Amino acid sequence: MSLFENAVKQFTKAADVMNLDSSMREVLSMPKRELTVNFPVRMDDGSARVFTGHRVQHNIALGPAKGGIRYHQNVTLDEVKALAFWMTWKAAVVGIPYGGGKGGVQVDPTLLSKTEVERLSRRFFSEIQVIIGENKDIPAPDVNTNGQIMAWYMDTYSMNVGHSVLGVVTGKPLEIGGSVGRTEATGRGVRICAEEVVKYLNEKGTFNKEMRDVTVAIQGFGNVGSYAATLINDELNAKVIAVSDISGGYYSEKGLNTDEMMKYLEENGSLEGYTGADKKITNEELLEMDVDMLIPAALENVITAENADKVRAKIVVEAANGPIDPDGEDILTEKGCIIVPDFVANAGGVTVSYFEWVQSLQWFFWELEDVRNALHRIMKKAFCGVVKTGEKYDVDMRTAAYVNAIEKVAQATRLRGIYP
Ligand code: NAD
Repeated sequence: MSLFENAVKQFTKAADVMNLDSSMREVLSMPKRELTVNFPVRMDDGSARVFTGHRVQHNIALGPAKGGIRYHQNVTLDEVKALAFWMTWKAAVVGIPYGGGKGGVQVDPTLLSKTEVERLSRRFFSEIQVIIGENKDIPAPDVNTNGQIMAWYMDTYSMNVGHSVLGVVTGKPLEIGGSVGRTEATGRGVRICAEEVVKYLNEKGTFNKEMRDVTVAIQGFGNVGSYAATLINDELNAKVIAVSDISGGYYSEKGLNTDEMMKYLEENGSLEGYTGADKKITNEELLEMDVDMLIPAALENVITAENADKVRAKIVVEAANGPIDPDGEDILTEKGCIIVPDFVANAGGVTVSYFEWVQSLQWFFWELEDVRNALHRIMKKAFCGVVKTGEKYDVDMRTAAYVNAIEKVAQATRLRGIYP
């Protein structure tokens, strides 16, 4: 099954739950626009190479398309379609006025020089400019793209139209219209979900612990995992007892000093050699630890049929994209484990991208406190909305999140009607 077919299968499961009629299913599952471009780039040695890239807008009923652009040798139109599809539901579930978009160029950028990457980026953005714009489609960084590339995109678009257009991309460097609070946003969103899920389960009576007694293990100590860990420790006062990265896991029964680990990460690039924990553990051991909450924040498919029965956490907050495969999920759900799905748990990033866009459109920039408060309000509301949908349909949180998102896009589509 292709990635896009797989994505539509998830959608169909939720559409069945809500009894969505067949024409609405067809309207909501097909991408609105798929643009493929083949374009030449001048290499440093004077030769020209032709690259292939795509931009897909899945649905724009709620607002302009939004989604990253990735550079990877394995990018395909099918993958970009699936990722755009997921963006539609992610934006809808958090209630930000965007549709789903995604883009990609088939290239391994590590094999190009910086000037070649710049020329490729500028030419690709010019090629897709026919469907891009601050009110049409707003790209952002993704795998192997970054703030510098967003700066080139913004400049290219601005040169082509003759004036500066900040709102055409997000994930820009602060100096040219980026937003404060973007770096920590995804981790902060995870922290908000961690707090809300504990509150909710306590109210329901299925979990009986104050936040300060909750033990947490986090796989991955990169952008998402490191901020999630420090914020859960510092702001929620929960006990983060294990974290890991590519160098392995670090465990302290009484709780880790995550601020010190963050500092170590900044200075050393990874946790390799960190000696402040009681003992080293493996990444596998971390996933199977006896903790209340497990936060996979590194890779996809780390919990599968192979290890799901050994996972002892009662709550899993999916900070990474797709860390639990469908078989693993069945096993966890059977055991009564509550899973906060990825497109809710890691939506803090796209939410602050939305704030960046709003600031760019207005040329008026917020303070950090404004960003944090607005993020908190939106994430909390999204979480509570998903819980309500779950109770209404008596379904797990992932299905509830899909149903919640599909309801919003379907209703917008009904209200707008079918043109002409
Ligand atoms: P990152 O590259 O900053 O960090 C990844 C972390 O995972 C690092 O600590 C790395 O050492 C660790 N890691 C890599 N391989 C590992 C392995 N085999 N075992 C254990 N740890 C390993 O990436 P990130 O931005 O923090 O993203 C993490 C996940 O969150 C990804 O799935 C990403 O798609 C998702 N996500 C990120 C954002 C964002 O804003 N950064 C937003 C939404 C979703």
